[in-house]
Amino acid sequence: DGFIASRVRELHPSGIRAVMTLAAERQARGLPVIHMEVGQPDFTTPEHIVEAAFSAVKNGCTGYTPNAGFMSLREAVAERVAQKTGAEISGKNICITTGGVMAIYLSLMSFVEPGDEVLVPDPGWPNYLNAISMAGGKSIPYALHFDKNYQPDIDELQDKITSKTRAIFINYPGNPTGANLSVDKMKKLLDFAERNNILLISDEIYEDFIFEGAHVSALSNALGPDPLNRVIMISGASKSYAMTGWRIGWMVANEATINAATRLVESIVSCPPAVSQAAAEAAVRGSQDCVKTMCQAYKRRSALAASILEPDGFLLNKPQGAFYAMVDISKAEKSSNDFVRELLENTGVAVAPGETFGSLTKSSVRISTAISDKDVIVGCRQIRDYLNQ
Ligand code: PLP
Repeated sequence: DGFIASRVRELHPSGIRAVMTLAAERQARGLPVIHMEVGQPDFTTPEHIVEAAFSAVKNGCTGYTPNAGFMSLREAVAERVAQKTGAEISGKNICITTGGVMAIYLSLMSFVEPGDEVLVPDPGWPNYLNAISMAGGKSIPYALHFDKNYQPDIDELQDKITSKTRAIFINYPGNPTGANLSVDKMKKLLDFAERNNILLISDEIYEDFIFEGAHVSALSNALGPDPLNRVIMISGASKSYAMTGWRIGWMVANEATINAATRLVESIVSCPPAVSQAAAEAAVRGSQDCVKTMCQAYKRRSALAASILEPDGFLLNKPQGAFYAMVDISKAEKSSNDFVRELLENTGVAVAPGETFGSLTKSSVRISTAISDKDVIVGCRQIRDYLNQ
């Protein structure tokens, strides 16, 4: 361990990876597992996108690309964002990244100075904590209570502000909560960012999977002029087009931030993979019917999970989007880490421990419904029966 830096030792271990390892061990023993622990679409990438990648490679799309990605893809993404939000966005406001995860890291690396504070949702995606710590910043969690449908409380946020606060992360529809945000709340969050002179980093990677209401982007022109002065928006192809393995995400920001991110990309990875960019361009420019079909499937599965877990009071909130749900395990009277292990051992159902998403979810677990309808039904019944026994 002598040569391992503190920046690595300080990384937050993923409770989800730990379950995946246990699940893989169980499968190696020949026992079945229902995988409700990972947020991985069960769909493969739609055919027309795969075909576009094949033909791009055959036509020589195999070299380095500009650091921020092909301008044609940046423009395609800008058109997509402009169409959804009404905001004035051009290709120069887009940096194509190796997954949304890289867009998050680049955003932070572009503005965080040592000791700067960044507000993060609790519960929230643990990756934010690691990206902030790698950038030299400090995570300050803010509470999202399930009985408030995981909406932030602006007064509570205000209490977290110090002279070192530089940004706040939000994530709607959310991982792990499945919660969505109202226009009114988004407006209040933007006012809050403005009032305190901080950035709003809006992780909208699940933007295309909304079951109730509409997706409210932090860039929506309904919220006021010049959102790019305040907002960095993160999204990508992974979830919308079932393209997790292609590693294409994007950040949307003002030109100064995009230029900063581009300089970082040059030093870290040079550019995102050429073939993946060609595939992503086909995804963004092509028919969006595949997205609608997947959204309907996630909506149906979310309703199936609710129909099994809700009657016994085990569902914490009805997901409004994404492909997750939070399950109340307080009846089991044990930590979520212990519960997850026992559930897997006794039923073969793998779920993610609430503890990995923050301090407020010790007696809940997250299930992913990005699996077949049959697995959703069998998995949820097993969880319900295990809690009722
Ligand atoms: N943001 C959230 C909340 C996520 O759950 C994920 C993936 O699980 C990502 C961003 C990034 O995904 P990717 O790096 O595959 O684009």
